[in-house]
Amino acid sequence: MGLTAGSPAPPSDLDRQWHREPLAQVTIALGVGVERGLATDEVTHRQAEFGPNTLPEPNRRSRVALLLDQIRNPLVLLLLGAGVIAGLVGDTKDAAVIFAVVVINSVLGFVQEFRAENSLESLRKMLAPTCIVRRDGILAEVPAGTVVPGDIVVLETGAQIPADGRLIVAVQLEVDESALTGESLPAIKDIERVDAVDAPLGDRRCMAYMNTLVTRGRGEMVVVSTGSRTEMGRLAELIKQTPLSATPLQGQLAQLGKRLAVIGGVAVVLYVLIGLSRGDAWNAILLSGVALAVAAIPEGLPVVVTVTLAVGVHQMARRGALVKQLASVETLGSTSVVCTDKTGTLTVNQMTVRSAWIGGQPAEVSGDGYQSRGQLTSAGQALSDAEIAGHRRLAQVATLCNDSRIADETVVGDPMEAALLVFAAKLGLDPDLVRAQFVRIAEVPFDARHRFMATVHADPADAAWALIAVKGALDSLLEHCSVLAEADGSITLDDSARAEAVTVMEHLASRGFRILGFAERRVPRASVDPECIETLVDDLTLLGIVGLQDPPRPGAAEAIASCHRAGIDVKMITGDHAATAEAIAAELGIVGRTCTGAQLDADPDDDSQLAEVAVFARVSPEHKLRIVRALQKAGHVTAMTGDGVNDAPALRAADIGVAMGRTGTQVSRDAAAIVLTDDHFATIIKAVEAGRTIYSNIISFLRFQLTTNAGAIAIMLAAPLLGLPLPLTAIQILWVNMIMDGPPAVALGMDPAEPNVMRRPPRSPREQLLPMSRIGVIALNGSVMALGTLLVLHYADTAFPTDQAATLAFTTFVLFQLVSALIVRSSTLSVFHRRTLTNRALWIALAFVLALQVIVVNVPLAQGLFDTVTLTPQQWLLACLTASSLLLVDELRKAFVRHRIAAQHSEPEPIALAAALPRVR
Ligand code: ADP
Ligand code: MG
Repeated sequence: MGLTAGSPAPPSDLDRQWHREPLAQVTIALGVGVERGLATDEVTHRQAEFGPNTLPEPNRRSRVALLLDQIRNPLVLLLLGAGVIAGLVGDTKDAAVIFAVVVINSVLGFVQEFRAENSLESLRKMLAPTCIVRRDGILAEVPAGTVVPGDIVVLETGAQIPADGRLIVAVQLEVDESALTGESLPAIKDIERVDAVDAPLGDRRCMAYMNTLVTRGRGEMVVVSTGSRTEMGRLAELIKQTPLSATPLQGQLAQLGKRLAVIGGVAVVLYVLIGLSRGDAWNAILLSGVALAVAAIPEGLPVVVTVTLAVGVHQMARRGALVKQLASVETLGSTSVVCTDKTGTLTVNQMTVRSAWIGGQPAEVSGDGYQSRGQLTSAGQALSDAEIAGHRRLAQVATLCNDSRIADETVVGDPMEAALLVFAAKLGLDPDLVRAQFVRIAEVPFDARHRFMATVHADPADAAWALIAVKGALDSLLEHCSVLAEADGSITLDDSARAEAVTVMEHLASRGFRILGFAERRVPRASVDPECIETLVDDLTLLGIVGLQDPPRPGAAEAIASCHRAGIDVKMITGDHAATAEAIAAELGIVGRTCTGAQLDADPDDDSQLAEVAVFARVSPEHKLRIVRALQKAGHVTAMTGDGVNDAPALRAADIGVAMGRTGTQVSRDAAAIVLTDDHFATIIKAVEAGRTIYSNIISFLRFQLTTNAGAIAIMLAAPLLGLPLPLTAIQILWVNMIMDGPPAVALGMDPAEPNVMRRPPRSPREQLLPMSRIGVIALNGSVMALGTLLVLHYADTAFPTDQAATLAFTTFVLFQLVSALIVRSSTLSVFHRRTLTNRALWIALAFVLALQVIVVNVPLAQGLFDTVTLTPQQWLLACLTASSLLLVDELRKAFVRHRIAAQHSEPEPIALAAALPRVR
């Protein structure tokens, strides 16, 4: 027991009914004081004692299982069988090579898959939730895994509850416990103990449970149990994470693989029959039949795809986009519209008050950032005392109705609220002092639906009165205001005064400023009922308006331009005023119609026009869901960003839900497919580019492998029919197969983006893996390989001794593969494009294969294994020239394709083309 003297041991028995005990008893039992929380060294002790606060991992494949999986593959088993037979009939050499091949293949496969699993694992770690705890009297954000029993945890709207706890503070606290209880309505929480033996979880209102989500309000709890001792931990056995389901691409490939396996299988049977009918030795025929089967059947396709996707996901993570599901990578590649938040995603979210209208007078504000230097000027004139008093009144509300702090010029909390503190300081107010004087007694948190926030404070001058401080969107605020404060007294907020305020607002908004109104009201303290503060937010006195500048993020405009080139539509979605949104949108290059939430509500059934809207302003999170659905109905693959609790449904409904890693809530991160670690719009576009690139690399790989398959089958079937000697021995076929599945193939998956990836319209989600055109190219290139190899064999068979002829044919075929690896990398770009020089891994792999081929042909020991003989330089030259015929044929074909594309594109714009493409989901 690592507990300090005096603090009793936290009981580790789960059956203790924490919900029944009085709070004081709970904290004593857990050895913690609510005000200070645990001491840091006590936390360390308890961590050692109770272990990490994590649920049992979903079963990860062990290394041994992973290795066995490589061998368990039917084709490998077949190969092993063939090896055993070869050994039995005394062909020890072939047996040894076969076993070596199996070992090398398995190791390669193991390494790849292991790497893939590791990168997914590290991704999971990056996504690990955090929480806010009070330790040593200081609030700190810590990984949820480090929480121990006795910790005091602060719960905010949108947070995920890190462990089981007993609530000690609950302000309008509501928790979504559906993960635990299945109850879809949020549970309302309070701190009263529930004195019922074995009350069902749903009735224990004073408890909060691990991994449930705070959907409203705030609270604090003392942790009573962690890790597998929590209610979730008990369930964990039952709800072990569902295994990663296959992505659509993996599914498609698996299906394709099956069809190709049948074709390959038929070819192998034909080959064996032809060989037997020619009277070849049955064991040699069987052996090369097995080898051909291994080579011709692309059994490894889904695995390669998994590896390529996983490696891609890892790279994306390094560039700021955490992709939670492999399938999202594919979807990203076909994204056709991105709906994005404005604040923080398109803008820097560093706000500065620039302009104000206080007591009916305009004022400009100077000074940047979160330093309170700078000043207020009012049309160059000195301020009267009355004006100064008006300013202070507004500054007071701005400080009180505010949850953020500035410590050492860094912001804790909402940047907009921080900007208001700076503004208040410029007006000569000391935020700490004001906050200490006016103690907050109740509040209405900001909510994107009503768009204001209100706090209630004790009046330091008169205990019988309370001050209500309100700030919010001006249009929402005006509905609750009846009086306008002016420098020389208050006037009734009549229609003309309202109109003036609205004019000021619109003027400020058209400069791209975010607008905030401030109001206050004094009420008798006795009328303040903490349960229904909202009713007090009425009959307010409007103090003034400020305009906050939030500049566009550097790089956002370029990212939007690149979207447009890539045929991707960008829509801005914001809670801000339409004029503000339009001004920022124009600055960023988002052009098109604007639609407000009110307009959406006016026409709840007509979604036909939504796809044409570019800016959605004054919308609430609920509208996002409708927008997503409408876009999807119009055939779009839709990405949607969100950060709040209420954004979760839209994030789930979108094809790609994008959550904010910095400012977003845990709830939104749970619902999203991608989490941006930098909250930056440009990162979404980088992810789309990566998605497109990865997809096209998988296609390159597919082309490469199928071309080799086609070539190998054609050669092996045609040679005996044409009366030629056996072109490739079993061992040689296995060798070719290793090139195909091995390093060069994997390196193809790492190709950098083609220069035109973001200059073509998005891929249709219906696109087939193997459209006729692609099959045609594979057949063409496969035939060139086969024809070239057979011609060399035919010529060499008469010109040189038989063993030399066979070695020459074998070498020619291997060189064909090297050429093929280079030409499959792009379906249109010439090999002589600069891009061919990129991808060092591929070049190293190719050089490696070439070196090995030289060894196989020239080194005596290898010659013995591979049945090869030394080739003369002239023969090498012949092999090289023949192999380059593939390059020639493919260059001609690509030139033709490029010519045709250019002819098609000469009239319409690429963007118009993208829009004209049929998009049906
Ligand atoms: P966005 O989509 O740009 O994030 P929000 O929904 O956060 O917009 O805000 C919409 C409007 O609500 C803002 O223009 C502002 O007037 C008001 N508002 C935002 N945050 C607060 C807050 N903390 N307190 C009061 N009003 C706010
Ligand atoms: Mg916001």
